[in-house]
Amino acid sequence: MSHPTKQVVTRFAPSPTGFLHIGGARTALFNWLFAKHHGGKYLLRIEDTDRKRSTPEAIEAIIDGLDWLGLKHDDEITYQFARAERHQQVAQKLLSEGKAYYCYCSPEELTEMRETARAEGRPMKYDGRWRDRPASDAPEGVKPVVRLKMPQEGETLIKDLVQGDVTVANSQLDDMVLLRADGTPTYMLSVVVDDHDMGITHIIRGDDHLTNAFRQTQLFKAMDWELPNFAHIPLIHGADGAKLSKRHGALGVEAYRDEMGYLPEALRNYLLRLGWGHGDEEVISTEQAIKWFDIDGVGKSPSRFDFAKLENLNGIYIRNSDDSYLANIISPLICEKEGVTVSAGQKAVLIKGMSGLKERAKTIIDLAESAAFYVKSRPLQLNDKAKKLLSDEGKENLKNLLPALQNLATWEENLLENTVKSFAEENELKLGKVAQPLRAALSGSNVSPGIFEVMAILGKDESINRITDQI
Ligand code: GLU
Repeated sequence: MSHPTKQVVTRFAPSPTGFLHIGGARTALFNWLFAKHHGGKYLLRIEDTDRKRSTPEAIEAIIDGLDWLGLKHDDEITYQFARAERHQQVAQKLLSEGKAYYCYCSPEELTEMRETARAEGRPMKYDGRWRDRPASDAPEGVKPVVRLKMPQEGETLIKDLVQGDVTVANSQLDDMVLLRADGTPTYMLSVVVDDHDMGITHIIRGDDHLTNAFRQTQLFKAMDWELPNFAHIPLIHGADGAKLSKRHGALGVEAYRDEMGYLPEALRNYLLRLGWGHGDEEVISTEQAIKWFDIDGVGKSPSRFDFAKLENLNGIYIRNSDDSYLANIISPLICEKEGVTVSAGQKAVLIKGMSGLKERAKTIIDLAESAAFYVKSRPLQLNDKAKKLLSDEGKENLKNLLPALQNLATWEENLLENTVKSFAEENELKLGKVAQPLRAALSGSNVSPGIFEVMAILGKDESINRITDQI
């Protein structure tokens, strides 16, 4: 692909009628990466013109979701509804140049056109009956809509950067409405005016918008505006190849964060690989992605959402993450779930605990669950298996071990291991007879990282107290 000479400007233009779903997040990512790759700008436009369905909560969820994914936009956010007057001016200009016209069709006439089309098995197309009628024909008391005069011959070509050259016969395009009878601009008009005014050079979006691009192209032309480049990316499908539904993962990104426990880096990496590739690379850092990303790497067929792959990537990112970064993410989760507060000292304990836990965690939820015992309040609640390990015999062994532990002047893993092992040997006990009750008392569970590591991390006082609580 030839490299753009003018500064690249991309945009993500969500309609705030719901959460930021996974397809939208990928569209945002591709726009962000393309702009970064070319040293350009990535803008955010909230398309809030549907006043009934747009909500402040959805706007907030979208902005939060993008923020969490690390997709920071340049410049101020553009709110489309606030620009309605500008959109109306453009329609007025087209009217004054004879490129648009007032249409006084009644709802009944339109219904009739729709029904005729249905009977003939073709899509409804407004027949242009007001295109060339003089203003003097205007019926009284009817508020007209404003329609664009589409060319009736020839074809409209889109040189799509993903789909290749795509054309439609102009006879297929009807004279679309620019202003409704109440004077409000339509979505088609607003999008084109905003893309022009924001200086968008590349429109990267889902291929469900490809058909809109034909009509939008004609509007750009009517205004003598330079056409942006279009890149319509194939949609995301479920693992079974069907259109993405909730069951397949068509959820808001906050569900991936809060309910499923994915790291933003992992989700970003996964979304990048959904529909874009660079050889066989799977684990791609953001710096690499910025270096490598271009539209050439976007495939033409729909990609399939695969939770197993996402989870696998997430595990890799967790393992490679910094311990304090992970501890900071899981702390509030543990606080919420266990109803505890995490003090600075306990935070330090969590950080130390990460290296023994992160190898096994696939999600942040797993990690938080497995780490919670480090900061739970005493006395620990034991799970059933831990209760069994703390049988009378188990308790007795801990009771006898305790003085040796209390006598230790230093408290570190190797020394703890030697002390417990010598105790077991001297008393002719299998190590498990001591180590397992110890695990139960210290973690409240029958599974935990290595028990000497756990003791070292908990520290002497907390370890002794937890043991004492149980005997
Ligand atoms: N607001 C549209 C949507 O959320 C996107 C419009 C566009 O990207 O041109 O589907």
